[in-house]
Amino acid sequence: MSIAYYNGQFCDYSDIKISLTDRCVFFGDGIYDAAIGKCGRIYLEDEHLDRFISNAKRLNIPLIHSKTKISELIHETIDKNRFEQYFIYFQLSRYSEERTHSFEDSNDSNLLITVREHTLPAPNKKLKLTKADDIRYKMCDIKTLNLLPAVMASKRAELGGYDETVFVRDGIVTECAHSNVAIIKNEALYTHPTNNLILPGITRARMLFTCKSLGIPYKEIPFSYAELINADSILITSTTKLAVIADSVNGINVGNTNNSQARALISALRDDFFRS
Ligand code: PMP
Repeated sequence: MSIAYYNGQFCDYSDIKISLTDRCVFFGDGIYDAAIGKCGRIYLEDEHLDRFISNAKRLNIPLIHSKTKISELIHETIDKNRFEQYFIYFQLSRYSEERTHSFEDSNDSNLLITVREHTLPAPNKKLKLTKADDIRYKMCDIKTLNLLPAVMASKRAELGGYDETVFVRDGIVTECAHSNVAIIKNEALYTHPTNNLILPGITRARMLFTCKSLGIPYKEIPFSYAELINADSILITSTTKLAVIADSVNGINVGNTNNSQARALISALRDDFFRS
């Protein structure tokens, strides 16, 4: 079992009691972020904290702690757990006395931090994708707790023997249930632009930065499902995986066997993590 933090107290993960005044219970009224790290460090810490704080501000969830204090609390939780490599989850939810849709003006919010052991997938791991309509709402750029379409898609994928679901909205590939997606075609990388239809993934941004240093041209433009299945490589990015190749969609093999640029990006991102 691991040690977690909730509203000023550290305790055993299983002993955390979330109060009914925490609006995450009734409304999923909160935001979260997640990062990985090792040996006391958090990979891309600033980027994750900045996204967390900006999401809280966009939803008017009061931040009772400064960025520095949140960072200190996260590091304290990491130190109490003593895992060599870990996944850190932090959540901020709105506080309210009553269950009413509209919220009271309050200076209070609830901060939860959990840590668990984590290892990256093997660099040569290949994901099996399935496709689903993107039936999510149009606030996908905010990392809120409202994840029901992603939860249901993930369960359907698991039951079908798939690793991840790629979402398609009006013929355009947006992202996956819990990752971003990019394709490589004719030695250039394409990924959906950051707007309200996708989460601006921290790993996605790091991958684009890495494209620059490796001299891989990229474009943030929408691409179709037909372009996905005809791509030379499909790359799936997220905090927990960094970057991984997907080699099939709904059981049909996709991509070619070379994948040299995709493999270069995967190894550069892993090096970046292990060096950090
Ligand atoms: N899109 C969605 C819908 C996600 O849930 C995630 C992972 N939380 C991502 C993209 C990847 O984002 P990141 O690289 O910041 O983990």
